Amino acid sequence: MALLLYAATTSQGKLRDFAAAAVAHDVLIEPLPGLATIPAPEENGDTFLANATLKAVYYSRFAPDRLVLADDSGLEVDALNGAPGVRSARFAADAGLTDSPDANDNTDVWNNMVLLQRLAGIPADQRTARYRCVLVAARNGEPLYTSEAAVEGLILEAPRGTGGFGYDPLFYLPALQHTMAEIDLETKNSLSHRGRALTTLLGQLHQ
Ligand code: IMP
Repeated sequence: MALLLYAATTSQGKLRDFAAAAVAHDVLIEPLPGLATIPAPEENGDTFLANATLKAVYYSRFAPDRLVLADDSGLEVDALNGAPGVRSARFAADAGLTDSPDANDNTDVWNNMVLLQRLAGIPADQRTARYRCVLVAARNGEPLYTSEAAVEGLILEAPRGTGGFGYDPLFYLPALQHTMAEIDLETKNSLSHRGRALTTLLGQLHQ
């Protein structure tokens, strides 16, 4: 029988990535039941590991005896000294651009706009960046498994592609000559920060 893991995320993009990557490992990843009604903890850690740990520990208390998986991830741009980093989801909000009523849809658009503004005038070869992902799985408030992965790329001057989420239309993979928003889910998971971090973590579970 497939192992069941609860994911503590409401991000449809992350859930899609997880579900697709888990199939190959005989693991079922489902959203944590009732997640929408649980008040979110403040993600005030300085690192991806700190935030992923606090989320996994917190949410695992809402699913006794279950393994609960939390992800903290983001984009590090070299020309911006590693920003937005742990502030990736809130990059535009930090810049004073407030959310619209359907913030979930528009946040990505605003974030991408701020990124392009910050990189205006920076030549292509200096637009190096990486996505980083840290995963933590916890049970009954105790962090038990941790993994991390990153994927290198370049930030384009204009978006390309309609797949993925977040910064994907601007995140260009030189080896594939496509952005993350232009590749299929299977390819994305085989090389992405989240897909590879998940493969490592699931490998630990089966040991
Ligand atoms: P978190 O929910 O605090 O982990 O926020 C992560 C943020 O980083 C997301 O809202 C996106 O803006 C960005 N991000 C992380 N992973 C990806 C990805 O795979 N594609 C695009 N954007 C990502």
